[in-house]
Amino acid sequence: MKVLITDPSITADALALVGDGTEVVWGKVLPHSGETLAPDACANALARAVAESGAELVVVPHNLAAEDLVPRLAALLECGSALECRLVERTSGGWEIVRPVYGGAIEARFALTSPRLVASVEAGAGGAEGAPAVESMETVEVRAEPGQLVAGDSRGEDVPLEKARRIVAGGRGVGGPDGFERLGKLAALIGGVVAASRPPCDSGWVPGSYQVGITGKRVAPEIYVAVGISGSVQHLAGMSRSKCIIAINSDPDAPIFRAAHYGVVGDWQAVIDQVLAKAG
Ligand SMILES: Cc1cc2nc3c(=O)[nH]c(=O)nc-3n(C[C@H](O)[C@H](O)[C@H](O)COP(=O)(O)OP(=O)(O)OC[C@H]3O[C@@H](n4cnc5c(N)ncnc54)[C@H](O)[C@@H]3O)c2cc1C
Repeated sequence: MKVLITDPSITADALALVGDGTEVVWGKVLPHSGETLAPDACANALARAVAESGAELVVVPHNLAAEDLVPRLAALLECGSALECRLVERTSGGWEIVRPVYGGAIEARFALTSPRLVASVEAGAGGAEGAPAVESMETVEVRAEPGQLVAGDSRGEDVPLEKARRIVAGGRGVGGPDGFERLGKLAALIGGVVAASRPPCDSGWVPGSYQVGITGKRVAPEIYVAVGISGSVQHLAGMSRSKCIIAINSDPDAPIFRAAHYGVVGDWQAVIDQVLAKAG
């Protein structure tokens, strides 16, 4: 099978999902002037690369941009599409994929009958250790057409949350932008990045690209510190695969404590001030 992968960072995951004997094409989309590419420009460029390479499967990392790109590319290629795949299998009738549904509460298996598939894959879905041997690899540079570029990301400053190993996430309980500045100090102390639940993003305290959850980013860091976050099912869908979840919340009955490995019941400011003071 020939697979076009748009980001080398997910190669191992993508290959572990699709199995042995894969021919890989890396199709990196290059903007003309270093500007951010609009989803349409990426989709048009990748559609050309798919046609030239004959790839049957296109795999992109799952993130907010993928939610724009995947359906556009599938429409251009007149083929099936699937987001947040945890498994992709070739079948005699087309494809079977496994992805989370109902806010990540369960996984469901879907059969798609199109001969070609565009799929986004969650970081860590395949497990890098499970990657099988690659039959051959080629790299194609996919040039976007000039004039299809946008001069920035309308979702705000981009944070590489999906790749972060340590995340300090704040919720409505953090109270405002000043609170997030203090979370930034904790994140810097542990070598992590700041993220948020949806209310701080909707309120403009932080950019929308910080949002973790069912309509935000899916993350699986080593450490996820949830500060003033109640633990809604929509938020848990984005971070429950974190290896170690530490929750700080003033409400001992907050649902986040059911998902957390460690919990601190108390006012977040007092807790974090003590941590920062101890660190000197
Ligand atoms: C279709 C849909 C999609 C959604 N997608 C997402 C999504 O992707 N991501 C997401 O996060 N949400 C999403 N939501 C919203 C979700 O339902 C919740 O409303 C949201 O996650 C709640 O955010 P929160 O935990 O920050 O706020 P709240 O639920 O208001 O919780 C605030 C918490 O802060 C605690 N707190 C208050 N003061 C302090 C203090 N001083 N110290 C310590 N703790 C304190 C409180 O006890 C409380 O537990 C979605 C909702 C819908 C309907």
